[in-house]
Amino acid sequence: MKKITALLLSLLLIFSLVSCTNQASTSNDATVSTTEAVISNEWANVKEYSFNKDVPVKNIILLIGDGMGENTIKNAEIIKGDKLAMSLTPYFTHVTTDSLSGTTDSAAAATAISCGVKTYNQYIGIDGDKHDVESICEFAQAKGMKTGLVATQIINHATPAGMIAHVDYRDLYSKIIRQEITADIDVMLGGGSEYYTSKMEKLAKEHNYKYISTDKELNTLDKENDKKMLGLFSYNALYADDTPSLDNMAKSALDILKNDNGFFLMIEGSEIDVQLSKLDMTGAMEEMKAFDRAVDVALDFASKNEGTLVLVTADHETGGVIVPESKDAKDINNDCITSGGEHTNANVLLFAFGSKSDIITKNEVIDNIDISKYMREFLNETYGEKEVNFKNRYETE
Ligand SMILES: [Zn+2]
Repeated sequence: MKKITALLLSLLLIFSLVSCTNQASTSNDATVSTTEAVISNEWANVKEYSFNKDVPVKNIILLIGDGMGENTIKNAEIIKGDKLAMSLTPYFTHVTTDSLSGTTDSAAAATAISCGVKTYNQYIGIDGDKHDVESICEFAQAKGMKTGLVATQIINHATPAGMIAHVDYRDLYSKIIRQEITADIDVMLGGGSEYYTSKMEKLAKEHNYKYISTDKELNTLDKENDKKMLGLFSYNALYADDTPSLDNMAKSALDILKNDNGFFLMIEGSEIDVQLSKLDMTGAMEEMKAFDRAVDVALDFASKNEGTLVLVTADHETGGVIVPESKDAKDINNDCITSGGEHTNANVLLFAFGSKSDIITKNEVIDNIDISKYMREFLNETYGEKEVNFKNRYETE
């Protein structure tokens, strides 16, 4: 019986190898016509993009894989059978992530990356003494840059919130979405229509947002006229098999944000963390696939738009994930999640592409607040130092 099983397994392996090879040769064959518009649910095709790193930073695209530790990346590469798009750079470094509470949550980590300040878990955009600290979106807006947030979670969840909001408790979702709208972020795409109440609708209209809620509306944007966009495509979060996909939202956001004064865009693969917390390795790998395609969209944009810095990192590691000793895809399962789904304080990776990618990764280890410092340093070099007159939201609300 064992022999028959082994034979069947090896036949299956040979068959899957053959079909993989076919796929690769087909996609490289220039004579085969392809329809680019087809929505893919596959891993990103590995492409060698070229970038000029010695030009000023005009745009920043920050991609955050929530809970995406180094071993989660390695496992995804084993399953893909190839490098992930994020790994195709010689410029990378390791990042420490602890918050004032110890092992960080997404709120304190987003605050560190955005505001350059360590704070307690649950806090967003405020320091340990509950004073507002300037967010990366406020900093970019003061320079006349456009700003955008894309997430598969609800748009007022911890990571996107950390880029702009100021609250002392991450679950104050109504307060956060109100702050996001009044802050005039140019484009926000994700889940969370639950929080788009009639009050928020009125507020969004006052702030000149076009509100959309379907895939179709996203795919038929009028790039010239739809300058300010709020798109909430799900009552709650969006998962890998939902539409629109993360890469589709990323593409639309880049279309809206591209302009002569530059932009800052944060794109979050939110559900990697959620799946690992649920001890679902298969689900986490599906989310990694979706994130891989979103990274590829950012790299494609950066290769065509000089002066774009693409950063790919995580807010923290989730799961205490291990790579199976066999390094075999069939052994990548829920047993690889060793922390019971909890966050750990393992260092995460930061990959950089494009403008100044060698500078931000020049040290072997940096801290998550350094990401904020480098982004600000680069934008100051390009756009000059400007005083930010940000509203003290937490202190005044
Ligand atoms: Zn997180």
